[in-house]
Amino acid sequence: MLLLVKPMSAKNIWKATLGELELQMTKATFNTWLKDARLLSHEEGVYVIGVNNDYAKDWLENRLKETILRVLTSVAGHNAEIRFVVWSDELITPPPAVLSITGLSKTQAGKDEASPASQTNGRSRIAHSENSFSNRFDFASFVVGPSNRLAHAAALSVAEHPGTSYNPLFIYGGVGLGKTHLLHAIGNKCSQAGYHVCYISSETFTNDLVQSIRNKDTAVFREKYRTPDILLIDDIQFIANKETTQEEMFHTFNELHSQGKQVVISSDRPPKAMVSLEERLQSRFEWGLIADVQMPDIETRTAILQTKAEQAGIPIPQHVLELISHHVRHNVRELEGALNKVIAYARLLNKPVTAELMATALADLLHQTNQVTVQQVVDAVCYHFNVTQEALVSTSRSRSVTHPRQVAMYLARTETSASLPQIGTALGDRDHSTIIYGHDKIAAQVVSNSELQKDILAIKATLYEPVHA
Ligand code: ADP
Ligand code: MG
Repeated sequence: MLLLVKPMSAKNIWKATLGELELQMTKATFNTWLKDARLLSHEEGVYVIGVNNDYAKDWLENRLKETILRVLTSVAGHNAEIRFVVWSDELITPPPAVLSITGLSKTQAGKDEASPASQTNGRSRIAHSENSFSNRFDFASFVVGPSNRLAHAAALSVAEHPGTSYNPLFIYGGVGLGKTHLLHAIGNKCSQAGYHVCYISSETFTNDLVQSIRNKDTAVFREKYRTPDILLIDDIQFIANKETTQEEMFHTFNELHSQGKQVVISSDRPPKAMVSLEERLQSRFEWGLIADVQMPDIETRTAILQTKAEQAGIPIPQHVLELISHHVRHNVRELEGALNKVIAYARLLNKPVTAELMATALADLLHQTNQVTVQQVVDAVCYHFNVTQEALVSTSRSRSVTHPRQVAMYLARTETSASLPQIGTALGDRDHSTIIYGHDKIAAQVVSNSELQKDILAIKATLYEPVHA
């Protein structure tokens, strides 16, 4: 009998899978993440599922894939693979860094990610985007703090008086700390003032050079790089080990410098630390001013987030911004990424940004920081509410103790991977139903009680504070 049954089409398998998932999940989860998930194609057991945006893609991949795969496999009756792709990007703009530095359009950026040739594509497009500076990267949107004050002041001075103040200006620092932003800000200001500005990455410079040698049109190359009033070279470190490029860079530099044209260079390290850089170039780079950018302190990070949130037109409470900057402390790009995630999440759910929403949106990031134990939760809760551990795990029913205890139950459930019996034991040998009751009570209150939200976030902040900080 069974043999006569026509195999289900991939389309119907997906439909049945969705039906089954709808039964298994809460309505909210299903509607948010799966309602619009479409089967785009199916080949050799691989189901390609189109979702609305990057955020949904991440979420499905990281949190729901296993469940979906389990259901899909059982519906299909054979092993299946699943891939999520973004098929409509109406909702979310990609991180500005990608967009504006390379001048790519939204769809191009998406394609690039998937294509192995992306680097080459990106590079050649950068070459064409010269003089089209992103408005997002101007001086107005650059937040100044102790970590970048000198670099900012120097950049501004150069932009106001190109060729006369510091020449060259050499800005160095780690990834995502604002070097490209400053270069663009100079580019913006100077091109508005009518100067001929050329912005390139050192890779573009190298590629253009190789191309021009191959095509025997080095004159065109020289025309391009030796005529601008301002030459901005991003990420110079990539020319290390490339002799021909260094040779050409040397002559380009001399030519521009001798004519009083401004050169601004960025790098991930100071000239001295560029081991395989020719000495003559190294010394040229040290002629002007060398300024570094460092990771901003927490106040500056919060101010940066404020600026970005304003740019995005999304109101975000101050304490939420502070919490994000508290957690992301290595790189401004990551900081922005975290903010974008929160914004995307709020848009997706069509809800205002609250501390709770932030915690959910950034759950991965918060959890990544370290693995929290029940004991850490107990410590943090006791510290926050100023109660002793003895009282917390005791049988006392006074409200000053029961409330912190329930918060501990809640956080032990949400922040640790401990089982109910483990949590019960750690909290004074309590029954698992007591833990569930305590968790649910706080979970219900937290939705509308902003005092409680603040308490919980403050406790979470201590939980995720690195010990060495
Ligand atoms: P880098 O070139 O040093 O790797 P970028 O200039 O690309 O870093 O900066 C990464 C992201 O961080 C950009 O979106 C940039 O606008 C932002 N950013 C970095 N520093 C600041 C700052 N001080 N103020 C505002 N935005 C900043
Ligand atoms: Mg950069």
